[in-house]
Amino acid sequence: MQPAPGKLTFSKQQIDAALDQLAAEIMHDFPAQKDLHIIITLQGSLFFAADLLRRLDRPLTYDLVRASSYIGRMSSGAVLLDGLEHIDITGRQVVVVDDILDTGLTLSVLLQELYMRHPLSLRLCVLIRKTGNIKVPITADYVGFTMDKEFLVGYGLDHNGQYRNLPEIYTYDPLTK
Ligand code: 5GP
Ligand code: MG
Repeated sequence: MQPAPGKLTFSKQQIDAALDQLAAEIMHDFPAQKDLHIIITLQGSLFFAADLLRRLDRPLTYDLVRASSYIGRMSSGAVLLDGLEHIDITGRQVVVVDDILDTGLTLSVLLQELYMRHPLSLRLCVLIRKTGNIKVPITADYVGFTMDKEFLVGYGLDHNGQYRNLPEIYTYDPLTK
């Protein structure tokens, strides 16, 4: 068994309820006859996107982009994007699905790159909006949870590559190691 990495912060029930709410909001804004293309950021959004997209009972397409800026528990400030070269979103209605909006640095770079490709519309869906470290003010259209600045792991979120496969979200406590 994998030991808990800290305090349980968002339980399976809370995550499921947030996913139901996010899916209902997106379905409301994008009725089935409207085009919808999802851009999923890896690696952290793997489980979130898989669970959210299966709740969107309508035609859609998606692409994966790898975005990284964190080393350990600190944002490195440098944003690396990989996978954008194959993406064609010109004239399409796009929703970006990301795990956490924290400083805003990663998404500011990604959204700018996507805008340059002239989508018809571009919206942002995040599982967690952290409010304690904002550097670039970015507004997410769909937000699952809001919290201050604690470092989280589980449900796709890692610390140095570990804990992603935990089904629930924990506040990482270095003292439990
Ligand atoms: P930002 O560029 O907004 O500071 O950071 C965004 C990315 O950093 C998120 O998409 C996520 O991958 C990572 N990140 C931010 N906060 C956390 C956290 O609490 N835990 C983990 N594991 N990753 C985080
Ligand atoms: Mg991310």
